[in-house]
Amino acid sequence: MTESTRKINLLGYSPKKLEEFFVSIGEKPFRSTQVLKWIHQFGASSFDEMTNISKSLRQKLSEVSEIREPDILVQNISKDGTRKWVIQLDGGSAVEMVLIPENTRATLCISSQIGCSLDCSFCSTGKQGFNRNLSAAEIIGQVRVAIRSFGPFDPSGVRRVTNVVFMGMGEPLMNFDNVVDGIHLMMDDNAYGLSKRRVTLSTAGVVPQIDKLSQVTDVSLAISLHAPTDELRDQLVPVNKRYPIAELVDACNRYMDNLKDKRVITVEYTLIAGVNDHPSQAKQLVKLLKRLPCKLNLIPFNPFPNSDYRRPSEDAIQAFKTVLVKAGVITTVRRTRGDDVDAACGQLVGQVMDRTRRSAKYIPLKDASGVQQEPPR
Ligand code: SAH
Repeated sequence: MTESTRKINLLGYSPKKLEEFFVSIGEKPFRSTQVLKWIHQFGASSFDEMTNISKSLRQKLSEVSEIREPDILVQNISKDGTRKWVIQLDGGSAVEMVLIPENTRATLCISSQIGCSLDCSFCSTGKQGFNRNLSAAEIIGQVRVAIRSFGPFDPSGVRRVTNVVFMGMGEPLMNFDNVVDGIHLMMDDNAYGLSKRRVTLSTAGVVPQIDKLSQVTDVSLAISLHAPTDELRDQLVPVNKRYPIAELVDACNRYMDNLKDKRVITVEYTLIAGVNDHPSQAKQLVKLLKRLPCKLNLIPFNPFPNSDYRRPSEDAIQAFKTVLVKAGVITTVRRTRGDDVDAACGQLVGQVMDRTRRSAKYIPLKDASGVQQEPPR
């Protein structure tokens, strides 16, 4: 079926949009609660499963709409429980996502765009250029795919995904509406019911969109800082030329002021040898972070082909961290292995990533005949 003849995909409809949809087809708004639960808590993919909805309405729904999840191209389950996926999207492109279990939580790192337009100098996604935004269905579909990989949905059972971070491919604030719809679904009690502390949007610092975000949600915020001065940040994160550090810090503080509870911003800082890892830069960072209630996540640079940057030595990482810790900044370092050149977003997530190991083999989900198989349980 071509894009234009496709039915409406209800998977990505936010609670508000779903309600409007039912009203638009002459139905009662409460139908949206029922359908939300079926889609996101019971994992329904067809209207036939929705037994508390009349046959005639189910028929009507299936004529105009569908529930369509992105396909899994590759699934990789590691011995330590880490799961990585390559997700096939309409138009033939693919994005990656990763689930990292740790003690009682399991953090899912999802993508928001195919490629990225921000072109940060150390980021492999940026080097691919920008292809397109993910739809809301493709965003929330990643959460559903991850949950489904554990077997049938069980709304009363243990949560398979406890936290979601937008730290995969793309800049979420450049795909604002779809990302916000996805967030609303993640946090809605009739869908995934995740708390605002357990959904984190990571941004390179698109300042006006941070303000806009605080008007529509109170999701947790992470910023990709990577440099203590504008001079250096201009080179690493080009969007800094538009929205320099002082403006970004102010926007973060405004965002925090709008929250009803007390939370801190997560500041990400990718450590690159000889570029931003000098102890004097750590001191500059300490000074800067005094203006922002935050915790710091140091991410040793993850090498990829055709990049001239290098990961700092262990000594350099520790020396940098020590300056911050001594100054009272809550600092964690995320560990990755040196040869991981084909890194997925999983290697870019925060401290939860520490235990990630690449011990698993890829399990292709398509057999030789091209027939899609069930994901391994
Ligand atoms: N666009 C969002 C999400 C990007 S990915 C953002 O900029 O925040 C999440 C984190 O991984 C970001 O902090 C990003 O700067 C970092 N990152 C990207 N490439 C990396 C690499 N090669 N090594 C280490 N961290 C990287």
